[in-house]
Amino acid sequence: PTILAIESSCDETSASVIRGGKVLSNIVATQAIHELYGGVVPELASRAHQQNIIPVVTQALRKANVTKNELNAVAFTRGPGLLGALLVGCSFAKSFALGLGIPIIEVNHMQAHILAHFIDEPKPTFPFLCLTVSGGHTMIVRVNDYLDMQILGQTTDDAVGEAFDKIGKMLGLPYPGGPMLDKTAAQGNPDAFQFPVGNMPGYNYSFSGIKTAALYFLRDKTKEQPNFVQDNLADICASVQKTLIRTLLKKLVQASQDLGINEIAIAGGVSANSGLRHTLQQYAQKHNWQVYIPAFQYCTDNAGMIAMAAHYQYMKGEFASQYVSPEPRLKI
Ligand code: ATP
Ligand code: MG
Ligand code: FE
Repeated sequence: PTILAIESSCDETSASVIRGGKVLSNIVATQAIHELYGGVVPELASRAHQQNIIPVVTQALRKANVTKNELNAVAFTRGPGLLGALLVGCSFAKSFALGLGIPIIEVNHMQAHILAHFIDEPKPTFPFLCLTVSGGHTMIVRVNDYLDMQILGQTTDDAVGEAFDKIGKMLGLPYPGGPMLDKTAAQGNPDAFQFPVGNMPGYNYSFSGIKTAALYFLRDKTKEQPNFVQDNLADICASVQKTLIRTLLKKLVQASQDLGINEIAIAGGVSANSGLRHTLQQYAQKHNWQVYIPAFQYCTDNAGMIAMAAHYQYMKGEFASQYVSPEPRLKI
């Protein structure tokens, strides 16, 4: 099948065309407007999606060399995400499909982050564990099949991407803090400072404590030494990043041992983190893991992953009705 897929859950407007399970195009328009506010402003995101959606879809079709009459279905992100943002993609998909007389497919954004692993080789074999880490989620998922996933543990408060972004903000880094914190950490000493992290039962996480700890730490140090942040930026970033990565991987190791699963993947925006990618490779050696790390363009939000999920749903005949509406808190 040839499917057009739309992603509009947060602050990237994206469209992708997939044919026979092969992604032909993946166009992403990142909304720069939010940088001014140091975070995503929902109302502005909706408006930017409204402006971007037609050009992004047009470009995705052109790049794929596919005309709209060749499409067999239109897929969109139903959730989780911002309601107003999701509404733009959902409404566009419905009307476009209605005009063409073809079905629509509703996709779960978090399942799609994981299914990004099936866009390129090498592909994981079932069952595998996927550490799914993004701006709004932190979870360890047992993936039994393309559309059969089970959450083993998750964050009880903040997502790890949120910790990266909020600590980045405290350090004066531009939004989103994750990518810049990552870059700055590369020049620092990860053992320079210690930060505490909450230890939750089972495979669960807590990332709100480190945020507060960082806030007090920076406040106290700046009192003694006004230029503390500027003078120690790389070391602070490296130490924070190391703590976050260690915490994430500790539970992953535990899950892998308990379940006897050595096929290990990472997904979501934070899987773009170079420290996490590097450390995972080291753990692969140590724990005899087969690890899967997505290409950068499929880590953060993109429609290619939505298209991949839609492909498997199409093959199973899972179509949505025209009455479907977005679900901001959609679960895996
Ligand atoms: P969700 O997928 O949970 O709905 P989202 O769609 O906003 O949330 P993604 O686009 O998947 O999230 O990921 C964005 C997050 O990834 C941000 O928190 C961002 O800081 C983080 N991120 C991106 N690149 C890096 C990096 N190199 N290092 C650390 N974090 C990163
Ligand atoms: Mg984003
Ligand atoms: Fe996402």
